[in-house]
Amino acid sequence: FSGITASRLQTAVDKAYADFKNLSEGRNADYIPILTETPSNLFGIVLATPDGTLFSAGDVEYKFSIQSISKPFTAALVMNQTSPEVLKEKIGVEPTGLPFNSKLALEIYEKRSVNPLVNAGAIAAVSLINADSEDKRWYLIRQNLSDFAGSELELLEKVYQSEYDTAWSNRAIANLLYSYHRLYCDPEEALRVYTKQCALGVSCENLAIMGATLANGGKNPITVKQVLQKEHVPELLAIMATAGFYDESGEWMAQAGLPAKTGVGGGIVAVVPGKFAIAAFSPRLNASGNSIKAMKAIRQISGELGLGIYGAN
Ligand code: GLU
Repeated sequence: FSGITASRLQTAVDKAYADFKNLSEGRNADYIPILTETPSNLFGIVLATPDGTLFSAGDVEYKFSIQSISKPFTAALVMNQTSPEVLKEKIGVEPTGLPFNSKLALEIYEKRSVNPLVNAGAIAAVSLINADSEDKRWYLIRQNLSDFAGSELELLEKVYQSEYDTAWSNRAIANLLYSYHRLYCDPEEALRVYTKQCALGVSCENLAIMGATLANGGKNPITVKQVLQKEHVPELLAIMATAGFYDESGEWMAQAGLPAKTGVGGGIVAVVPGKFAIAAFSPRLNASGNSIKAMKAIRQISGELGLGIYGAN
């Protein structure tokens, strides 16, 4: 596997699991009330190769909500349905350096929604999907995420309800964008479908295959379906590299050197282009909303195996 033996890959995964298993820093996200109920000690790591071989440790089958990790994959659907130029013009690709749910970013960046990996740009991406009804919009988005995973992803209804019932901040973002002509369907429809997208259940194994699909030039290694056109994969990975960790993206890049996306459900998926994907999950987050154990695990594996795309970290 890219010159690294299977046993070395498994050893790196096992070691990261053992080294960080007992950490108890950080807290589950609580602004979505139901996320406080996820057992905080869960911890799983999966390294996937582009042929779909998995190297795992810990709670890798537990289903948690994908949250913001859905965002690059829906941006991919926008690229597939239209083009990367549309994504750039209608949403933007610049990192904000601001928190994921920033409204200020919309004001200071000339009313652009900024990039598809923060809430504003992600809600705009949902609104950009060509669909003649809300059901169709949701169907296309869920199908696309399932195609990346190579398995039917199910909505976690209780997570959806809990987030939708309390989605005041995202509702404000959707309405503000709409007023600037930067949202392309009814704002409440975009909010509902976006919130459902974030409440899809995934396991660490699912996330690893989603990442492996990107590592494999957009082709799912299990189903062999070309989910994203190969020429668009580098553009998507570049957006993940600059904005995948919100206001911690620079810090993450300096430490792990890998394009990645995090979610407040506790998941992270990182991609080593052409080589591997590493997914990790643990619910306790730091102040920027990133899983502490998952970050540490991926960073350590990347370092030990020399996977950072700018050289060994
Ligand atoms: N659904 C969450 C929100 O919109 C996603 C946030 C995240 O995972 O960073 O707030």
